Amino acid sequence: MKYADVIIDISHEKLDKTFQYEIPDSLTDKVEIGTQVVIPFGRGERKIKGYVVDFSREPKIAPEKIKPVCGVAKDSLAIESQLIALAAWMKRNYGSTMNQALKTVIPIKKKENIREKKTVTFLLDEAQAKTEFTQLMARKNHSVAKERLLQELMEHRSISWEDITGRLHVPSSVIRDFEKAGWVEVTSARAYRNPISVGEGEKKQVILNEEQKQAVNTVLEDWNQNIFTTYLLHGVTGSGKTQVYMELIDACIRRGKSAIVLIPEIALTYQTVMRFYGRFGNQVSIINSRMSPGERFDQFERAKSGDIRIMVGPRSALFTPFSNLGLIIIDEEHETTYKSETVPKYHARETAIARGMMNQASVVLGSATPSVESFYKAKSGTYKLLTLTKRVENKPLPECEIVDLRQELRSGNRSILSRRLTELMEDRLKKKEQIMLFVNRRGLLGFVSCRACGHVIKCPHCDVSLSLHQGNKMQCHYCGYEVSKPTVCPECGSKYIGGFKAGTQKFEEVVKQRFPQARVLRMDMDTTRGKGGHQEILEAFSNQEADILIGTQMIVKGHDFPNVTLVGVLAADLSLNAGDFHSGERTFQLLTQAAGRAGRGNTPGQVVFQTYQPQHYSIVAAKEQDYLKFYEQEIVYRKMLGYPPAAHMLVILVTSPMEEHAVAMAQNLAELVEKSQEKVVCMGPSEPSVAKINDIYRRVLYLKWPKYQVLVQIKDKIEQYLLEKNDMRDVSVWFDFDPMSGF
Ligand code: ADP
Ligand code: ZN
Ligand code: ZN
Repeated sequence: MKYADVIIDISHEKLDKTFQYEIPDSLTDKVEIGTQVVIPFGRGERKIKGYVVDFSREPKIAPEKIKPVCGVAKDSLAIESQLIALAAWMKRNYGSTMNQALKTVIPIKKKENIREKKTVTFLLDEAQAKTEFTQLMARKNHSVAKERLLQELMEHRSISWEDITGRLHVPSSVIRDFEKAGWVEVTSARAYRNPISVGEGEKKQVILNEEQKQAVNTVLEDWNQNIFTTYLLHGVTGSGKTQVYMELIDACIRRGKSAIVLIPEIALTYQTVMRFYGRFGNQVSIINSRMSPGERFDQFERAKSGDIRIMVGPRSALFTPFSNLGLIIIDEEHETTYKSETVPKYHARETAIARGMMNQASVVLGSATPSVESFYKAKSGTYKLLTLTKRVENKPLPECEIVDLRQELRSGNRSILSRRLTELMEDRLKKKEQIMLFVNRRGLLGFVSCRACGHVIKCPHCDVSLSLHQGNKMQCHYCGYEVSKPTVCPECGSKYIGGFKAGTQKFEEVVKQRFPQARVLRMDMDTTRGKGGHQEILEAFSNQEADILIGTQMIVKGHDFPNVTLVGVLAADLSLNAGDFHSGERTFQLLTQAAGRAGRGNTPGQVVFQTYQPQHYSIVAAKEQDYLKFYEQEIVYRKMLGYPPAAHMLVILVTSPMEEHAVAMAQNLAELVEKSQEKVVCMGPSEPSVAKINDIYRRVLYLKWPKYQVLVQIKDKIEQYLLEKNDMRDVSVWFDFDPMSGF
């Protein structure tokens, strides 16, 4: 590589503005992506600093006009360097431009004015103040401004800087004099837009139990030996994982380092966030997507300046510019929100581990239902496994039962509420205890199943459910296999075979009809649009303003509702047949987490799973709250069909406003893949579940191969091909490694 692309102002909106410089031979070993270099700039060839963000072989302008890099900046360990290196890693491993990757990791300074708010606080007590005031007045030609300020301070104790220099007409030099004399303190706390005022959190002294201590000590002992690695903290619901995180953060801070805590979504985990505030006070800050760019920028600035030591937030908090990062915690690590939906489609878990390696920081992944990927790595020794097997204070896990909906149909009950669940609901309403009902939002595509025997029609090649399309066609979204919908069940001959579809609204109607006297709240995408929407509904339910809360999985995590003693999952099958290889895992997670909501208070909880597939291992294992049982079966399935983590998957999505272009390009890419050295498994091209969005046609290819880097090489090859040979300019190609859900 002969040339370096250098960016001058890293936090500027226009990140794509790079300048090309030649790398002299003497520097080739020293210049990497992220290195801060000194370069001649502008007409006067002024020497300034910039960051190398990319390399290229070819000059972009006449070669004689390209100037050489002068040298490497001395303080080249700046946090920006680390983040640029991380962006380069993301670009390579997930497929994107360097620019897209940079925009993901670096907070952009929109022209937000940085507000400074200084407060002047009086330090003298009444007696001291009186003495000083008398002495001042005794002096001939004493300063009137001094007199005025002293008087005001005696009266108000604390006054803003602007007020003093503005309203009181006291020059700032006088304030500085007071400061030198030790009369006042100027808290130049930059007016960071602070999202939460401190002091709201819970303060609670907790003594760790043996399992928690063991988990904490494992990490601390590693730190003592300078080992920084990745841990999977697997603890049943309510086992005290958050307490373990807090102990580790405490130790991390005492070692002079900083910590990042990733949570799936602030609005849904508000209580957790408040616990961090309660324990660490104003050393904590949060960021989230609802904050203004200015607010977010401020929080990152506070992190950079050391004003805060702990950042809590969703996926993007991972890029908090702590220069002394020591610990990254990912709570609920199995959640799909950790995978970015926009390019680069990075996974926060892998990216956190990459950042951890670059920064000598440890990564702790926590979950009651770890992702199969993480548990696989924990078992193989890539991650260290820490386990909490018991709920704190030995509270029992709730009692779960499965209701067979086929049986309901046979007995003539065609409602989605089974007799058992109805009976339990009546009982709880009578006792004035609360009920939560879950519907899984996933799988709204409609799979085809038999309500008499529970049989689900699957793809013979991919072992995922086929989904129903117009014209009674059923399709596989992985390989494109297509077949007509049968009129009778191929298993039992029943005519009760058809598409399965349902949403929260439909369930709400059914519940209200059956229990007209009950107060019902619904929480889904529709009812939580506005700012604070989640919070209001959860709070109302928490204050017992409703008897029944119906919702999607967004109510699985969040508040503790001690009065909830019954949890019903209305149709466990919705997630079981979502048409992608994660469905068994998602179902187990949803059911286990949902069950974990019941019986948090003093009355033990009861849980009902309604399903047409009562024998499915995901449902049986969830009933027994047995993660290992689930895992052992799931991993066999993944290995048999070569799905992650047994292999890696690269999804290539081709889009175009011209359908024939999307089809042709997908075909070209499939042929290109065929020709690659390794005989990578290529499925498709096929139509994704949503084959057209806003008049843009979509086609998709699925590649599977044991080695991730082989897939990365194929991605590189395709990028090269698109750059050199693509004559269909209206076609876009998107990459997604190890997808979290179907397309
Ligand atoms: P998890 O994150 O595993 O669901 P939490 O950390 O939220 O569990 O703990 C559940 C509850 O138990 C919290 O209210 C927490 O304060 C409390 N708790 C945690 N550890 C202990 C402990 N060692 N002793 C007593 N209470 C604890
Ligand atoms: Zn049947
Ligand atoms: Zn298939």
